[in-house]
Amino acid sequence: MAIKSAPARLGIVFGDQLNHDAALLHSLGSRDTVLMMEVAQESRHVPSHAQRTALFLSAMRHFADELTKRKHAVRYINLDDAKNTGSFETEIARAVAALKPSEIVCVQPGEWRVLEMLQRVASSTGIALTVLPDDHFLTTPEEFAAWAKDRSALTMEFFYREQRRKLGYLMEGSGKSAKPVGGEWNFDKENRLPFGKGGPSPRPRAPITFKPDKITLAVLAAMKSVLPELPGKSQSFAWPVTRKQALAALDDFITHRLAKFGPFEDAMWTSEPILYHSALSSSLNLKLINPKECCEQAIAAYNAGKAPLQSVEAFIRQLIGWREFMRGVYWLEGATYANRNGLDQRGELPNFYWSGDTDMACMKACVGEVLDTGYGHHIQRLMVTGNFALISGVHPRAVSDWYLGMFVDGIDWVTLPNALGMVMHADKRPGAAKGVTGLVGTKPYAASGKYIQRMSNYCAGCRYDPGERAGEKACPVTVFYWDFLIRTRKQLAGNQRMAMIYKNVDRMTPQVMTQVTVDAALLRKKLGIDGASTRG
Ligand SMILES: Cc1cc2nc3c(=O)[nH]c(=O)nc-3n(C[C@H](O)[C@H](O)[C@H](O)COP(=O)(O)OP(=O)(O)OC[C@H]3O[C@@H](n4cnc5c(N)ncnc54)[C@H](O)[C@@H]3O)c2cc1C
Ligand code: SF4
Repeated sequence: MAIKSAPARLGIVFGDQLNHDAALLHSLGSRDTVLMMEVAQESRHVPSHAQRTALFLSAMRHFADELTKRKHAVRYINLDDAKNTGSFETEIARAVAALKPSEIVCVQPGEWRVLEMLQRVASSTGIALTVLPDDHFLTTPEEFAAWAKDRSALTMEFFYREQRRKLGYLMEGSGKSAKPVGGEWNFDKENRLPFGKGGPSPRPRAPITFKPDKITLAVLAAMKSVLPELPGKSQSFAWPVTRKQALAALDDFITHRLAKFGPFEDAMWTSEPILYHSALSSSLNLKLINPKECCEQAIAAYNAGKAPLQSVEAFIRQLIGWREFMRGVYWLEGATYANRNGLDQRGELPNFYWSGDTDMACMKACVGEVLDTGYGHHIQRLMVTGNFALISGVHPRAVSDWYLGMFVDGIDWVTLPNALGMVMHADKRPGAAKGVTGLVGTKPYAASGKYIQRMSNYCAGCRYDPGERAGEKACPVTVFYWDFLIRTRKQLAGNQRMAMIYKNVDRMTPQVMTQVTVDAALLRKKLGIDGASTRG
């Protein structure tokens, strides 16, 4: 009797799923086909930085080559292929028509939009869809939901402590009596230092870079013909595009920057975009490397006496704490999370976010670095570009779309909770208790120019004065900060964490308040923020 072979399956690998060890790849047999698609729509649904698009496509091409070497059958659609229909949905339909698979199988995508697209394809073609958990992460959405259940507030610090216990990272003892190494869960008190007047000393060693190879150059050429309109500069492209390169970048960080990561995590300095940060987010988010190996190498450096606890703890907190927490929030809150606008802010994103053309030294430096490289470190994102959007009244989606497209590590599951939640304080749940004004953050991170002056050297080279909120030299960040507090007073009044801050507003005379409000309105007009955003 002839043995009937199993029907062939179509395994889809998206550009942020380049995990060499994914269960999906192990499950695919010799009759199955891997589908990988370079589609223009993914660079256009929000304008994507040229380096972000180049990174995804080059890493995908390298990955597809490796899959072919591992004897997988790969159907790879190039960006400039004449038959390319330009979207995931139409390309999957084309693959289904050509290959007639019995089942579509993929790892959970990084975006609600893509998951919903897959579900649409499955229902329109009648082909079964299997979505596998993403084993790159340390926590499943279900585990996160179980942790979050019945909690009125989702506090990252408590989630992080459970992660430490679960993973046993930097813990002494075992079981219920396990304690954090060093006696504290968190050493942030000792971190958050600014540099002295002379800046970082010695200067941080420049991170390892990767010259574009033949594959990256071919991608850049294809982009020139298909996507010539993309923002950002591609000339300085130097991101890791293979697992081998990403591992070299990890080693470079552990050896040369980890030791100072903690103390200077929040500091900023002109022409030093990376300082002591890892610059590993794009490799992690593409899944070229995984959080487990990053943490284990950092802990090994601590055990070998090569990096202090305050740095190693801070680094692993970002990975097993913040990164997993943000993903948990994204899937927990559902597809409509993206529409929240808790502070009802509706302004347009000023043009200088696309050009860097502004006389504010802080914004010029931070936006300029993003345009040059597709990267900005966390405090530049949170306290410079993000803070400005928050306090000037930009629509949360306008700025979160900017973060999603303009950074090489932008993927919806991580960008959205950071931009909409952490920065814009827009993610209050419908029906939240009185006094609860956000979900990811308990209060907005709003700051005046004084914060930027303390944590950087930007103000020293600026025509404005961070201490001034009126007159010729009034710092726009400081003007918008006070205006934000005045404007949002009603919405934030019940928030206990804002009480001290509002005491300062109470000390303002009515004349000063009016002057701040008028000056901020004029500034908003000048910068084009006040045209109500079309995002509703
Ligand atoms: C407005 C805004 C938008 C952001 N958008 C993104 C994004 O699109 N993609 C992205 O990966 N991160 C995003 N972040 C988080 C964080 O800023 C970046 O992960 C980090 O700056 C990347 O640089 P790095 O690799 O040098 O990080 P490091 O400072 O070296 O930190 C180590 C790693 O920890 C993780 N991490 C640190 N902070 C966070 C965080 N808040 N959320 C999730 N992971 C974190 C990252 O994987 C990072 O690579 C955003 C933050 C803000 C405030
Ligand atoms: S003075 Fe104001 S605008 Fe200028 S760099 Fe400082 S914070 Fe930015």
